[in-house]
Order: sequence, then C-alpha cells, then structure tokens
Amino acid sequence: MKREGVLYVISAPSGAGKTTICKMIKSHEPELRQSISYTTRAMRAGEEEGVDYHFVTRETFDRMVSEGAFAEWAEVHGNCYGTARATLEEARLAGADILLDIDFQGAAQLRISDVDGVFIFVLPPSLNELRKRLEGRNTESHDVIEQRMTNATEEIAHAAQFDYLVVNDVFDKAVEEVRAIMLAESVRTSRLMSDLPKEFSLK
Ligand code: ADP
Ligand code: 5GP
Repeated sequence: MKREGVLYVISAPSGAGKTTICKMIKSHEPELRQSISYTTRAMRAGEEEGVDYHFVTRETFDRMVSEGAFAEWAEVHGNCYGTARATLEEARLAGADILLDIDFQGAAQLRISDVDGVFIFVLPPSLNELRKRLEGRNTESHDVIEQRMTNATEEIAHAAQFDYLVVNDVFDKAVEEVRAIMLAESVRTSRLMSDLPKEFSLK
C-alpha cells in the first residue's frame, strides 16, 4: 500500500535542541528527506555546503525571492533563510516524507498557503536551560546569544499555533515523542483512504 508523503515542519527557539533531535530522527528514519534550506548566514565550523544549508549571497537570495523560488522564507536573527518550492515538489512527486527545520514565521507562511503539513514545536524545559544550551553549544558570541534569548520569548509565544508541542527535557523522550507523532500521522485516515484496496468500499 502506497500512501502520500507527509510534510513535517519542526520549529523551536534557537538552542532548544531541534537540530540534534532532527539528526537523531533521521538516523532512525533513513527514508525521511530533510529539506536543505537556502541561507545568507555564514557557514559555521563543521558545516558543509549542500548538507547543512545552501549558503548563498544576499543578492542570490533576493533574486530567488523575486523569482518566487521559495515556498516560504524569513529573516531570522539578522539572516535570511528559505525553503525552495522545488524541494517540496520533488518530495511530493516521489511520495516521500520530508522534514523542514524552519522558524515560526516560515511555518506560519506554509500554514496560510494551505500546505498539508504536520506542525511540531519543540520547547526547552525553561528559559534558563535554553540559555545554558546556547552557551554550552559554544557556536555564537555573547551578543548573538543575548539576541537569540530575546527572540526566544517571541518565538515561544507562537507555540500554540502548532499541532504538537514537544518539550525537549530528556532528549530520548523528546525523540520518542516526535517519532510517535510521525507514526500516528502516517496512518491518519485521510492519508490512507485513497490507497486502500477497492474491495473494502468504505463509506
Ligand atoms: P537548535 O537546533 O534548536 O538551535 P541544537 O540542536 O544545536 O539546538 O542544541 C543546542 C545545544 O543543546 C547543543 O549543544 C545540544 O547538544 C544540546 N541539547 C540538545 N538537546 C538537549 C537535551 N535534551 N538536554 C541537554 N542538552 C541538549
Ligand atoms: P541556524 O542559523 O541556527 O541554523 O538557524 C536559525 C533559525 O533559522 C532556526 O530557527 C531554523 O529553524 C531557521 N531556519 C532554517 N532554515 C529555514 C528556512 O528555510 N526557513 C525559515 N523560515 N527558517 C529557517
């Protein structure tokens, strides 16, 4: 039985653990596609072009915006990030599940554009713990961490617009919860109806 692919959107304030969770999910679900966003942000140590992001100049990003190449895009912490329409279209045509790690503004754009997605918001257990994780990750300067903490309050305020909330306190539990959401969504009646054997003739 072949069902349509599911589009999963995961958002969280920076430092909540979304990237770590997504990597773990990907290792459990090798078939799951991960959308590689376009960004104008500088590459961090350890990141790779075409693996973590497509790193582009502001000029290239603006051109892609004007050509309508993005299904959604937003400015986050002073840099631009966007999801290519082509990436979503390829997954749809292949019937593949795809995971988008994007901010709440991008998630809101997809929602209003009527994309049939499953929207998950990852919360840190507390703001204190969020700060500890940002500091512990050691990838941003003090000023950038302060900016991300200020933005976190605004981002968390949008959590209620998501379908599911996952509190990333104990890491393994958070991963298990995201996987449980995916399992449940994969057998949602509306996704299976058109692919059931005709002899069932459901009403
Ligand atoms: P995000 O992608 O949301 O910005 P990361 O995945 O980079 O966040 O995680 C931020 C930091 O927090 C990383 O150093 C990561 O190892 C750590 N981390 C992630 N989840 C947990 C957790 N449940 N408990 C403790 N530390 C965590
Ligand atoms: P980072 O710079 O830490 O990799 O990501 C910063 C923020 O940008 C994260 O909240 C991440 O989810 C978001 N982000 C990454 N890619 C996209 C995208 O394509 N669109 C939007 N709207 N946000 C994105």
